[in-house]
Amino acid sequence: MALAFDEFGRPFVIIKEQDQKVRLRGLDAQKANIASGMAVSRILRTSLGPKGMDKMLQSPDGDVTTTNDGATILEQMDVDNQIAKLLVELSRSQDYEIGDGTTGVVVLAGALLEQAQKLLERGVHPIRVAEGYETASRIAVENLEKIAQRFDFGVNNIEPLVQTCMTTLSSKIVNRCKRSLAEISVKAVLAVADLERKDVNLDLIKVEGKVGGKLEDTELIYGILVDKEMSHPQMPKQIEDAKIAILTCPFEPPKPKTKHKMDIDTVEKFQTLRKQEQQYFNNMVQKCKGVGATLVICQWGFDDEANHLLMHRDLPAVRWVGGVELELIAIATGGRIVPRFEELTPEKLGKAGLVREKAFGTTKDRMLYVEHCANSRAVTIFIRGGNKMMVEETKRSIHDALCVARNLIRNNSIVYGGGSSEISCSISVEAAADRYPGVEQYAIRAFADALDSVPMALAENSGLQPIETLSAVKSQQIKENNPYCGIDCNDAGTNDMREQNVFETLIGKQQQILLATQVVKMILKIDDVISPSDF
Ligand code: ADP
Repeated sequence: MALAFDEFGRPFVIIKEQDQKVRLRGLDAQKANIASGMAVSRILRTSLGPKGMDKMLQSPDGDVTTTNDGATILEQMDVDNQIAKLLVELSRSQDYEIGDGTTGVVVLAGALLEQAQKLLERGVHPIRVAEGYETASRIAVENLEKIAQRFDFGVNNIEPLVQTCMTTLSSKIVNRCKRSLAEISVKAVLAVADLERKDVNLDLIKVEGKVGGKLEDTELIYGILVDKEMSHPQMPKQIEDAKIAILTCPFEPPKPKTKHKMDIDTVEKFQTLRKQEQQYFNNMVQKCKGVGATLVICQWGFDDEANHLLMHRDLPAVRWVGGVELELIAIATGGRIVPRFEELTPEKLGKAGLVREKAFGTTKDRMLYVEHCANSRAVTIFIRGGNKMMVEETKRSIHDALCVARNLIRNNSIVYGGGSSEISCSISVEAAADRYPGVEQYAIRAFADALDSVPMALAENSGLQPIETLSAVKSQQIKENNPYCGIDCNDAGTNDMREQNVFETLIGKQQQILLATQVVKMILKIDDVISPSDF
């Protein structure tokens, strides 16, 4: 502490920064960090795999989320610890890059930390551990490349893509409908994919959900879905070859901007006023009809008089359509948003092959489907489900499946799941360890052990004996020289993942190993933690 004076001679006390901090240094820092990382990973461990458990998370304002998606669980958890936050980031980066494998990556990172802790306790320097991990991860990634297989798919042969998406969906709550949801996801991705450039713009796929109905009713719409209905119940519910006027001007007489007064003291005056008003509406409807519009989509509302007139003049209309949706409709149908009736021209109309209104069950809910649009490849996946939690979780699962399908279009290599590729990598890393004479080899062996923890978690979560199952599968892989043996989580009777059709993308798996190693290395290199004290 030091006493100083400012320019007016007032005294103030300077407290050195360190006096306010609690510090952890050296091995203590590493151990504390490892412990917090492992705590996070332990939470996710039970969620891994097709028999993994779900987590129910309550937000501060009472919203409840049920999910087994790693990224979502971590996102919703209120994590305070900085190291734990690194793992949250880890899961998020896997989600950004790949979209799937968000639980697996954290479980692997946790296992790597656990193994590192043992080495540190035995006196191995953290930097040696980090270097060993780096070498081992390179060997594992190369091994994945070796055991990867390519498969061909085409627009007429989507089965391989569907199978891979099904593996992703099999560990989610939506497991029951995985076949149909996987097909929907693959068709959606292929609809917007640019197969020549091997690229997919997922922004063109809109995922919408509405509570009600069954999961089986989830459908793919080649077009856009708007949560609105025709403005009058007697308007046609289906319009083919629709020419759509997209308006941001209201269907009503112009209102004067300044205050004014009008006296109507005779019936005649009232009649004239009414006539005038009707004339306005008539003109507006005429303008729309004149340019050939067969449907009007309006951002604003219109009163009953206009509504009635529109119905009479056979011009179906939709009102109160939000700005975002209006824009989407304009893009999809190739139309222009028109701010004034005078500006309507035939070229500004949007075109859609079919616009229809659909009612759901006994509820009064109706939605508008705009399909076979002029020049857009935009598609919508419309999810139905018994409750909000289900719809939201299905959205997340579909997101994973869409990402997997996109990754396969970018790179059509796959590895087999069910822990088989981890076991294969573990065997090859273990074998390579002997080639390294230094202390590094302990770290490389530890990496191999950490890889084993993924199949172990899968076995544990499926109610199998983890150690026995793993050792049996591992020896089978070595004996039969078959890197496709994994954990038979679903009791299908075979542990050859080729027969079970459990695929994962090569880039996804590689990314998991690389990202997990990177984060663990980073944590190991921290030897000083300075944080503000509680007082
Ligand atoms: P993530 O969020 O990491 O994708 P999941 O909970 O989806 O986590 O679990 C994925 C793991 O489950 C992968 O290792 C995958 O290989 C495995 N898996 C998925 N389906 C099966 C199956 N039918 N049999 C065995 N393992 C499976």
